[in-house]
Amino acid sequence: MPFRDLVDQRHARLLLQGALRSGRVSHAYLFVGPAGVGRFTTARAFAQALLCAEGGDDACGRCAACRKVSAAAHPDLRVISAGRTESGTERRAVGIDQIRELKREAAYGPYEGRRKVFIVEDAEAMRAEAANSLLKLVEEPPPGIVIILISESTAAMLPTLVSRSQSVRFGFIPAPEVVRVLRQQAGVPEDRATFLAALSGGRVGRALAAAAAGEDPLERRAEVLRALDVALRGDIIRLLDAAESIARRRDDIERWLDVALLWVRDVLVWQEAGDPAALANADAHAEVAAWAGRANPAALRAAAAAIEAAKADLRRNLNARLVLETLFVAMASSVPVRGRS
Ligand SMILES: [Zn+2]
Repeated sequence: MPFRDLVDQRHARLLLQGALRSGRVSHAYLFVGPAGVGRFTTARAFAQALLCAEGGDDACGRCAACRKVSAAAHPDLRVISAGRTESGTERRAVGIDQIRELKREAAYGPYEGRRKVFIVEDAEAMRAEAANSLLKLVEEPPPGIVIILISESTAAMLPTLVSRSQSVRFGFIPAPEVVRVLRQQAGVPEDRATFLAALSGGRVGRALAAAAAGEDPLERRAEVLRALDVALRGDIIRLLDAAESIARRRDDIERWLDVALLWVRDVLVWQEAGDPAALANADAHAEVAAWAGRANPAALRAAAAAIEAAKADLRRNLNARLVLETLFVAMASSVPVRGRS
């Protein structure tokens, strides 16, 4: 997919298309930013432009080289990722043998064009041995080689590898842009697109994956609201049942918490502003208004803080059921006695 069809990552686009125009392409790039905001698709677009027979600052999308890149079949584009190897064996980080293979291929040079492009995913998870081996290649690159490292942050990376690469920053995508992509690329109706975009937190890849999986975000929200309602009414027994049933779906809990947080924030926003356009759950503004009318603002703020704390606890790998029980009890106990019905 050429640059012109990508979501707008202004910094990346200016820098990479500027390099293509001037012909001053670096031999190593480091794409840094959160997952799901287009780092990999931008790397592939850059590779396509570099390999395109037409040249220029964007791929033509039509030549043989462009079509091979689109089909993931260009011999001068290699993707090295941590999740899997050629044999399909599970692997947690890009390993030394993968880097050795990369260096062997780099030494041969391009097969078809003037350049050979390597995309290395999850570069932050690379072990010292692999990173040091890659550093040698970055320090003395064979002609025509372009290496694109993709990483969530530079904190855990070898500092010399970071400083020897041209950094390209990626940020979260604004919600209206995510809505546009969901509607145009996945045909998602507007009310669902607005909610999915808010839920993705600016990670367009996550929103597209949810749309592709046929997930119905509104159905999920209805389920979350039933549990939240029980929590904010302070019914402890029913709460513990709810915690248990949610905790059973381990992969799903974070999403559950995100939906709950968006809702609680929207109810608070409505209490303060009363503006449907300011809501993530804009399609359900009547229901948001109804909650705003009966919920206590202090209890809502406590609930939002408790949900944030639960998300942090889950990231620290605490027991899911315990995290949810703690959350629900915190919510229930923050409800003032007179506010209970
Ligand atoms: Zn082309």
